Amino acid sequence: PYDYAALEPTIDEQTMRLHHDKHHQAYVDNANAALAGTQWEDRPVEQVLVELDLLPEDKRAAVRNNAGGHANHSLFWEIMSPDGGGEPSGSLKSAIDDAFDGADALKQALNDAGVKRFGSGWSWLVWDGTGLAVYSTPNQDSPMLKEFDDVPLLGIDVWEHAYYLNYQNRRPDYLSAWWNVVNWDAVQQRYD
Ligand code: MN
Repeated sequence: PYDYAALEPTIDEQTMRLHHDKHHQAYVDNANAALAGTQWEDRPVEQVLVELDLLPEDKRAAVRNNAGGHANHSLFWEIMSPDGGGEPSGSLKSAIDDAFDGADALKQALNDAGVKRFGSGWSWLVWDGTGLAVYSTPNQDSPMLKEFDDVPLLGIDVWEHAYYLNYQNRRPDYLSAWWNVVNWDAVQQRYD
């Protein structure tokens, strides 16, 4: 929903072009290929992920990784904005204050989860059915998978492809800077 260069200097144009046009596209293509010919091929990705255990066993790993990758990245683009940053407000702020003792503590928890993720994965703020929670998933595992059974509200991609051109090995610096582009309005809409 914005130009490739719109998130500079936090996220550079080349990273956004590669990330959206190559990495995300590959997840879409591979998910479609894995689902072709099954009854899930035209279903919403959220339904595919929730019903992963019903798919043919030889399709599950490819769908978990690639439908997960599509869902995760679709969320990721939407919860960033060139007009982002600032602080949450309204009912989301209240929920964050209840669960984390404020937005700064939430940011710290998400950054810690991302820094500690060994290898590739995501750092998530989710609705777990009763309240907010923070954790990390490996690879492209979605919080919507049955084993988590949560609704993702905010997710930060900590794969190296998300930051390496600009930040190299400095994942903590990427995570600190990422909050300059967070779109709290989009997170609030998901929370609502
Ligand atoms: Mn990614």
